[in-house]
Amino acid sequence: MLSPVFNAACQVIDLSHAYSAAAPHYPGDRPIERQQAGMRAREGFLDYRLDMAEHCGTHLDAPLHFAENGLAVDGIPLARLMGPLVVIDISVRAQHDPDAQVEMSDIADWTRRHGALPPGAIMVMRSGWSARWNDAARYFGSVNGSHHSPGWSLAAVTHLIEKTDAVGIGVDTASIDPFIAADFPVHRAWLGAGRWALENLNGLDQVPEQGGWLVAAVARITGATGFPARVFAFVPNWNKP
Ligand SMILES: [Zn+2]
Repeated sequence: MLSPVFNAACQVIDLSHAYSAAAPHYPGDRPIERQQAGMRAREGFLDYRLDMAEHCGTHLDAPLHFAENGLAVDGIPLARLMGPLVVIDISVRAQHDPDAQVEMSDIADWTRRHGALPPGAIMVMRSGWSARWNDAARYFGSVNGSHHSPGWSLAAVTHLIEKTDAVGIGVDTASIDPFIAADFPVHRAWLGAGRWALENLNGLDQVPEQGGWLVAAVARITGATGFPARVFAFVPNWNKP
């Protein structure tokens, strides 16, 4: 538990899903597998070995995922794995359009209501799709073998790269690219620009559009192209939604 003093000042909101074999996995990936290693009766302790994709569940994408000489997970400076949280809400559109994207106009709307983007921002799309997590077919918007889920538009991400110092983007879907996009244009542009991304976020309905602070606590795996992360937000009590 947090100290009472800390609790009075802010809330901590978990933005991660739990990892398990039952969690939806990206089409083509395998589900998480767990094998018992140490046995109480044999070694005197219990532990497991996990077989999991780097990009399973709530996770971080490092530049190396799409950029040949990009930083791996362990190369991203710790100070760049946290920053002011900007939530771009497209949930009303996404309800009716599984191919909805974060457009330039959504960022302009945000700045009109809340002012300039904070320095070093972490920009997160709230589409409402984390509510589908327990139903993989709905989460991946699967229709007759094709998949549909909201993501960032290339135009919006290009704007962030060229005009802002935002360090990360995130989504409450499985991919920062809309699923229908061919050849991962947003991954290529954003990770190619040396910035990082978060996928499969949860709990975004509990954080305000502005005023929160996000931390992507990712394990420091040498050479990893991505890795599961405990992602959470601090929300000062005066900024609660
Ligand atoms: Zn990924």
